[in-house]
Formats: sequence, C-alpha cells, structure tokens
Amino acid sequence: MKKQPLGLYIHIPYCIHKCGYCDFNSHPIKHDEMDHYIDALVAEMKHYAKIYSKTNIIKTIFLGGGTPTTLTVYQLERILKECVKKFKVAPDAEITVEANPATVDVELMKSIRKTGYNRISIGVQSFDKAELKLLDRAHGPEEVHSTVDCARKAGFDNLSLDLMFAIPNQSLSSWESNLDKALEKNPEHLSTYNLTIEQGTAFSRLQSNGKLIMPEDDHQLDLYKKTIERLTTKGFHHYEISNFAHQGKECKHNITYWRNTNTLGLGAGASSYINGTRFKNINLPAHYIRQVKEEETAVEHSETLEPRQAMGETIMLGLRLLKGISIHQFESRFQVSFTNLFKKIIYSLKEKELILIEDDCLRLSPKGLFLADSVILEFI
Ligand code: SF4
Repeated sequence: MKKQPLGLYIHIPYCIHKCGYCDFNSHPIKHDEMDHYIDALVAEMKHYAKIYSKTNIIKTIFLGGGTPTTLTVYQLERILKECVKKFKVAPDAEITVEANPATVDVELMKSIRKTGYNRISIGVQSFDKAELKLLDRAHGPEEVHSTVDCARKAGFDNLSLDLMFAIPNQSLSSWESNLDKALEKNPEHLSTYNLTIEQGTAFSRLQSNGKLIMPEDDHQLDLYKKTIERLTTKGFHHYEISNFAHQGKECKHNITYWRNTNTLGLGAGASSYINGTRFKNINLPAHYIRQVKEEETAVEHSETLEPRQAMGETIMLGLRLLKGISIHQFESRFQVSFTNLFKKIIYSLKEKELILIEDDCLRLSPKGLFLADSVILEFI
C-alpha cells in the first residue's frame, strides 16, 4: 500500500522574552522543565507512530515555537533522531527549525545543521534598531546580522527570513530599507507579515490606552504593494499572500497546511488536521507534560468537521496560495460539483473581478489579492 504524506509540526513553547505583540503559545524558559518536555514529546511521538508509521510517510518536519533554539543541541538532536526512529521519514524530507536572533551562535548552528535540520527560518522582523525596540524584541540589528551570517557559515543553504511591516511610524522608505537589507543576505525564502494586534497581548493593552497607534489601512496596503514589487523584481516568486521564494524553495511544510492536507502537531498547544478531524493539545507546557505522562496524548479539543465546513476551510486556506485551488482535486476530494455548490459566489466575485478561474484553478485576481480577507470569507 502506498504511504500517505503527512506533515509533522513540533512545538517548542519556550522563549527568552515575551514580545509585546505575541499571542503564540510561548512561555518563559524553565531549564528544569525542558528535559521533561522532550520526554513528553518522545512519548507523544511513540503514541502517534503506532497509528501512522505504517500508513504514512513524513514529508516535512517543522520545529516551531516559541523559540526552538532555546533548546540545547542534544535536545534538538534527540527530537529529530526520535522522529526518524519512530516514523517513516522520507529521505528528502524538508526539516525546518525556527531560530531567533540572540539565541544562537555559529557552533550551535553548525551542530544543528549536522544533526539533520536542512532548512532554517529566522525571526528577523526588522533590521532597524528603533523598530525592533518598538516591537519589544529581545535583540538588536547586530544580532540579526550575526545570526543570519552564522546560519550561512553553518551550511544552511535553505534559509528563510521573517519580516514584519506596518509597524507604528514605519515609513515606506524604512520598509524598503528593511527589504533591501534582507535581500543583501540572499535568502531563499522570505515571509512578510503585517503587524496585527491580538487580544490579550501587551500591544492590545497599549492600543486601548491610546499609546500604540497603528498605521492607516491605505499605508499598510502601500507597504504590501511595495513588498510585492520589490521582491518580484528581485526574482522572488510570490507564491502565498505573505510568502516569497526562489523557484523550488517554497516552504513545503506550510504548503501542506495551506492545502488543508494531513498535518500532525506534537507538543504544547500544537494543532493537527487528519482526515477531516482537527485536534489541539493543551497549551501549558507543565500540563502537557503531565497529561502525556498519564495518557500518552494531551488533546484538549477535537472536532470532526462537517463536509461543508471542511470545504470552506480548504478554500479559505487554498486561496492564500497565488496558484489557487485545483477544482478537479477539490471535486475528487469532496465528491461534489464545485461549480454547482459555489455558483452564486463565483458569479458575484467574478463580476467584481476579484477571482479568476483558469486552467482548472480558482485563484485570487490581482485586485482580489488586496482584498483577500473579504473574498475568502465569501466561501465560508
Ligand atoms: S520570539 Fe516569537 S514566539 Fe517568542 S515571544 Fe517573541 S513573537 Fe512570541
């Protein structure tokens, strides 16, 4: 029997500092807890490997956070070794580790590369000192430069940088300068996200008190348009709303997610989507560790999607990809007529020139790209 592809996400929930805008599942480093956390990850792997190792092949592994580089080399190596031992991992699997400046040096990078991680994603956010300070990041521009340079020296030839725009007071020229500095590092991949204020964060409280003023929507759109123009003229392929890559260097793991195909999430707060069922682990690392010890898993919530819900989510995620959604694949996956089901929506969005249907694919038009959120909502 042919093994089905599966993406594996592993969450490392520790950070050296909580950034003001962060609503990810991140917690302060606790050295006395971290070995127990890895033990729990290994136990969780063992549980799921019993279910999936015979039928599935892992095509991508993504170690995200939090900050995975708060772990030691030994811990990072152990995680990867256990994955390979317990699951069937494809020999050419894309294996990404996220890293943050101020948490790595060249020796650590070299060791990480040697253990088998073949892609690195660095949370740069900005090359500008004032912007980094405003973002409440734990590092300055010097650490950004040294971290990226260390990754190259360590032999990472698949390197992604995360940048953030629409930072309060950020001018178009400051953003252009950030893009240029990123380009000087010759990354294979760039993710550019606009700053959003999430409830419960320190930034949300500052905003409520009038101490944080976000840029106007028009300015945010200008920054986004500039991103596309600058990066595509430099040879990057704009393949997802916020992501750009050299041909063949698109993030395979995230494409699995945007295609709404099977992903298994391990670790505190990690989410999984397998054959129409979504499940999510407990957020708090200590609770996660305890629960896995007792029951081998730490699922807090599980939901099997109704077919219409699963279809809506598949479109919502798939339209983020500039290539769009294959209508044929959609129809064979859900056994429905796409055109019949979405006739009215498609007609109305086509009339407004927000979507295109070409060569069996539904995708956002150039105009629709700038109104992506509202176009996507129509299908849900
Ligand atoms: S480094 Fe990332 S995960 Fe950690 S607090 Fe900052 S934004 Fe959140």
